[in-house]
Amino acid sequence: MTADAKTPTNEAATTQSFEADVSRLLHLMVHSVYSDREIFVRELVSNAADACEKLRYEAIAAPGLIADGAPFAIVIALDKDAKTITVSDNGVGMTREDLTSGLGTIARSGTKAFLDKLAAEDAKSEAQALIGQFGIGFYSAFMVADEVVVETRRAGAEEAWRWSSDGKGSFTVSPLALDAAPLRGTRVVLHLNPEAEEFLEPWRVERIIRDHSGAVAVPVDFVAKPG
Ligand code: ADP
Ligand code: MG
Repeated sequence: MTADAKTPTNEAATTQSFEADVSRLLHLMVHSVYSDREIFVRELVSNAADACEKLRYEAIAAPGLIADGAPFAIVIALDKDAKTITVSDNGVGMTREDLTSGLGTIARSGTKAFLDKLAAEDAKSEAQALIGQFGIGFYSAFMVADEVVVETRRAGAEEAWRWSSDGKGSFTVSPLALDAAPLRGTRVVLHLNPEAEEFLEPWRVERIIRDHSGAVAVPVDFVAKPG
């Protein structure tokens, strides 16, 4: 990289620790307090749909944000060779700050409430019911993945970012070249752990969508690359 004066100092890759509560939650996730791992699909699709809804709303005042005319869509891509499942949306996307605060801290509705309740209950068996009740959000990805990569471009922004983590205490954010980034929106790539390879089967994932995501207002498409 050149020492261009226009290059903001925040353009280097940085590694940060998760908030303590996040680490606690991730530990619970990975050590399978909760056996219903398939909810990660519901959580990622729901985030993708929220992101589309958010952009749809912002575009009322700023139509330029969706000037490309691409209809809102969510795509789930399965790759048996790479052992990845990718959930993409062309919603609002995230800035670097959004990535750090949204995917690094616990200051959010469902998960915070979950942890507070869990502390109060002090009973592991309650965790199952509580997760079902509150939803566990993005971090549920770490129940099935040993690495999660998020590539995102905020609608209208001339920069894009890559977030990655193995869920073991820290995450890294680095700049992503625009030609490697979504035009707008986010893709979440899960590198599945060996116990989660059942989720590479299209019928399996399609059934989860049917069971859990019936009310999603954005169409969900599948792409399966045969292995
Ligand atoms: P919640 O959906 O309850 O806020 P999550 O853990 O599911 O909690 O997501 C955390 C935050 O990360 C979201 O509030 C949002 O700001 C951001 N986020 C997650 N996925 C996406 C996405 N696909 N597009 C844009 N923002 C996202
Ligand atoms: Mg969510």
